[in-house]
Amino acid sequence: MTASANPHDDIATVLITEEAIAARVRELGAEIHAAYPAGEAIVLVSVLKGSLVFVADLMRAIPRNVEIDLMEVSSYGGGSTESSGKVRILKDLSGSIEGRNVVIVEDIIDTGLTLSYLTTYLEGRNPRSVRIATLLNKPARRLVDIPVTWTGFEIPDEFVVGYGLDFGEHYRNLRYVGVLKRELYASIIGEI
Ligand code: 5GP
Repeated sequence: MTASANPHDDIATVLITEEAIAARVRELGAEIHAAYPAGEAIVLVSVLKGSLVFVADLMRAIPRNVEIDLMEVSSYGGGSTESSGKVRILKDLSGSIEGRNVVIVEDIIDTGLTLSYLTTYLEGRNPRSVRIATLLNKPARRLVDIPVTWTGFEIPDEFVVGYGLDFGEHYRNLRYVGVLKRELYASIIGEI
């Protein structure tokens, strides 16, 4: 089965509405602001492409100067709905994070393998601190324990799309987070 012309038609259920996301992102912005002393630099490191929409809203919810930098990673070896644990850096930071407070901004934590790798990688660049803000967390599938400071929503073990999250590069532009109809990806995970 292929993606429909109208992306809404491929969604089984809306898990988190646009309004709920907006309210939670405002709270997270206030919490991140409050967590660091005034005058200390914060660098939001957005993990592309999934966190693009989240970071755009989150940065505007933080009432102080923040810098952003972008990294793009891909896990290779796994299928498109599974993480393999081997991470490849497709785009590295463009600036230094030395002595700065880094907040890694992620779309979703599933097994935790991607963030475990990234945290170690960024800590090797002598930042003042490294913390994690994720929009979504799927604790049921965690393989490695990683400390997450800010979580938008805990979700069940479903494959979700929207608000930046994709399947085959589609659905990122949905304003909500929804569960993709199973028949769209079942063949890839070997169910059909
Ligand atoms: P982890 O390394 O924590 O297993 O995987 C994190 C990455 O897997 C996310 O950044 C995302 O790209 C992908 N991922 C995991 N679960 C989902 C999901 O439910 N929907 C989508 N679209 N991507 C997911």
